[in-house]
Formats: sequence, C-alpha cells, structure tokens
Amino acid sequence: MKTPTKMLAMVLETPRQPLRLLELPIPQPGPEQVLIQVHACGVCRTDLHIVDGELPNPKLPLIPGHEIVGTVVQVGSDVERFRLGQRIGVPWLGYTDGQCRYCRRGQENLCDHALFTGYTLDGGYAEYTVADQRYCFPIPEAYSDAEAAPLLCAGLIGYRSYRMAAASGERLGIYGFGAAAHIITQVAAYQGKRVYAFTRPGDRSAQEFARRLGAAWAGDSTDMPPQELDAAIIFAPVGSLIPAALRATAKGGIVVCGGIHMSDVPSFPYRLLWEERVVRSVANLTRQDGEELLTIAPQVPVRTEVQPFPLEQANEALDNLRRGKIQGAAVLITSSGRHPLNTD
Ligand SMILES: [Zn+2]
Ligand SMILES: [Zn+2]
Repeated sequence: MKTPTKMLAMVLETPRQPLRLLELPIPQPGPEQVLIQVHACGVCRTDLHIVDGELPNPKLPLIPGHEIVGTVVQVGSDVERFRLGQRIGVPWLGYTDGQCRYCRRGQENLCDHALFTGYTLDGGYAEYTVADQRYCFPIPEAYSDAEAAPLLCAGLIGYRSYRMAAASGERLGIYGFGAAAHIITQVAAYQGKRVYAFTRPGDRSAQEFARRLGAAWAGDSTDMPPQELDAAIIFAPVGSLIPAALRATAKGGIVVCGGIHMSDVPSFPYRLLWEERVVRSVANLTRQDGEELLTIAPQVPVRTEVQPFPLEQANEALDNLRRGKIQGAAVLITSSGRHPLNTD
C-alpha cells in the first residue's frame, strides 16, 4: 500500500480569524502514540471559544477538534492497547503526568500538566492525527463514525456534569439544549429522571427536539419550571443562567456548570444560594468518565443527531454553531469517512 505523506487540515493561525485549509506533513507517532486516519470529528462549543479567542494560550498554529473518530494506521513502539485497523476515539483529555497531587488522588481531569486535544495538542480537523493511546477509547460498534463523534466530548463532559447532578434527585433541569444536552437527556430519561429542558427564549424547535428525546417539559430559559428542580446543569455559556437556575432549584439542590467558558455571572441575592444550594463547575474528563459513558450509551441506546459538514467547511460549521443553528451536533467528515484504509 502506498503510504501518503501529506494531509489536508483546517488550521487556526490567529484567533478570531477563519481557519485555513492547508496541506501539511502527516505527523509521525511517538512511542506511546497511534497515527489515526480521521473519519469524523465533532465540532464542539469549546472549539468555538478557542477560535474566537476566549480561551487563553492555545497552541498556534493549531488544528482544532477533540471529538475524533478514526482508524489506527500506524502504532508507536510501546502501543499495546490498540491494533492496526481498529476504530478508536480521541477525546479532549490528551495527556496527564500521572504524578501531580491531582492525578494521585484520582482527579486526572485537574492535572497540573494536562494537555488537551485540539487546544494544546493538534486535534482532528484533519485527515490524520496522532494521539496518546492511553487516553483513547474503542468505539462501540453500534455507532457510525459520525454518530460516535459527539459522544467524545458533548457526551463525556455532559456525562460528568450529569453524574455531579444526578445524586440530588429526580428532577433535572438542563439549560442550553445543544449537543451535550441532547445526549444527556436520553441517559437521564433512561435512568428515571424527569428532564426539564430550557432553551433560548422562543426557540420552539429546540423545545420540540428536547421533548422528542424524552424531556418531560421544555420551555424558555426565562421561565420557571412547573416543579422545583432538584438539580440543574448549565451547558449554555451564559453567566446569567446561574442565578436563573438557582431560582428554579429546590433546597439542597445543585447547579452544575458544564462549559469551559461563560459570560460574567451577574450578582444575585444570597437567598438564592441559601438552604444548602450548591453551584459548581465541571472541568475536562477522566478516562473513567469515558469508559462509563461509552458502556452506557449503547445500552440506552443513546442516538446522536448529527449535522455533517465536509472537513473543508469547518468555518461554516463553526459559524452555524455560533448562531445556534445546529440541532444536535455538527460533525466534520473527511474524504476517508467512507473508505477507511483506502490510502491511495
Ligand atoms: Zn497530574
Ligand atoms: Zn468539547
């Protein structure tokens, strides 16, 4: 088989500028890395925050993308978990040192020296990528490449947020009904939760979408739900939703912020927090979160709704996400998406 040496990639050279389509050398895997022929890569709101310059110090130039599904085409000398031809997924958490005080106490998501795919490491808006095998996951067979991609961040971070909220009771509010919410609503309904979906005011199609996926109630983020919530997850990057969610939450309830970036939180009266309400954020993921979600997802079964774009249209996909025009998740598809291992 002829081995190609060049690949197409969508590259961020300067924040707040469109990505550029470039031809680059295919990276070589290090001892712990696999070389992956990318079939599909999800477009996450975090990518938008990086491209828009809202997150500090990205690698530059950068290939974004951290919901990568592809086939292993080359393995480094120390790779044991995966074999050639295997379909795997690459998530946001790309590396940890394994020895800082966070790693030692099981909080590798907070590692002092973590590296993140598509942020401080090159990601999957490309025909090929390399990834550290220790942070990759096998992809359940039930999913196509495109359907699996959103599970790898929207699903994983969503699931970690859901785990933090789920212990508080059965009434779960979800603010912002995008990629993460559409996955987690299905998991929550399957586990017997009543889901209350809050969307941008007036977004009837998102509310209808939420009900179709199992939400018991759907309305505007400015509405009060018909019952007090036991817990709420905020996926929308809107700081004013924190007091709004606290106002809708019962005594002892928790508000979990699942996003990496939010607009400033307005001040609010202490009585909204009183009676043991909790506000917390969720950062990154652990490998255990990934293993749990990828086990549960095919059991539910979680169906992901994806809007495919060719790799070359990454800017259009990001722009649609920015304008709230994506139902479910946007996913970039490479030319190999249909014919893996056809490297001619
Ligand atoms: Zn660490
Ligand atoms: Zn993400």
